[in-house]
Amino acid sequence: MHTAKATKADAVPARPSTPSRWQAGWHTASRRIDSPNFGPRPEKANIDLIVLHSISLPPGQYGGPEIEAFFTNTLNWEAHPYFQQIRGMAVSAHFVIRRTGEVLQFVSCDDRAWHAGTSHYRGRDNCNDDSIGIELEGLEGNTFTHDQYTQLQKLCEDIAIAYPIAHFAGHEHIAPGRKQDPGSGFDWGFLQHKLGWPKHFFPTNAG
Ligand SMILES: [Zn+2]
Repeated sequence: MHTAKATKADAVPARPSTPSRWQAGWHTASRRIDSPNFGPRPEKANIDLIVLHSISLPPGQYGGPEIEAFFTNTLNWEAHPYFQQIRGMAVSAHFVIRRTGEVLQFVSCDDRAWHAGTSHYRGRDNCNDDSIGIELEGLEGNTFTHDQYTQLQKLCEDIAIAYPIAHFAGHEHIAPGRKQDPGSGFDWGFLQHKLGWPKHFFPTNAG
């Protein structure tokens, strides 16, 4: 019979907050805004890729409600001339990190978000099937904020707890010639340094 008294140490799990960081693919520290633009992942999808994007609506304007509206199919297409170019598009990403560092989640990471489009990376097509998409509020080619890098690092560390991440690429790397985001203003070396993940996780032609 086991008679040892419970000690303080017994009450502390090895990784204290890990189990509560995710609930059914939802990151509990992020603000949840459900997008209808998602579907099931293929059976046995190996979710080993994070795809980084940049977005701002209208381009170059920050802090408004337009990204949330776009990802929830409630954007008023008449509100700005640029919106005619994206009119009717039903898209999403798992996460958006605002200039302030606020992190929004639109789709469970267990589901397939619609961020990559026609794409190919690490020998596989259709990167939406087995990747997690993160949008940084910004303009491709421009720089991103310190708060964004800090929150991106935290988010990626949490993602890597729950999913077997082994690759990290920009939209420009999985759809070369078609997409340019996040562009030359994103500092891949800085991100790699912050995360401390192996160099081979990152695109070879990252600036
Ligand atoms: Zn993109």
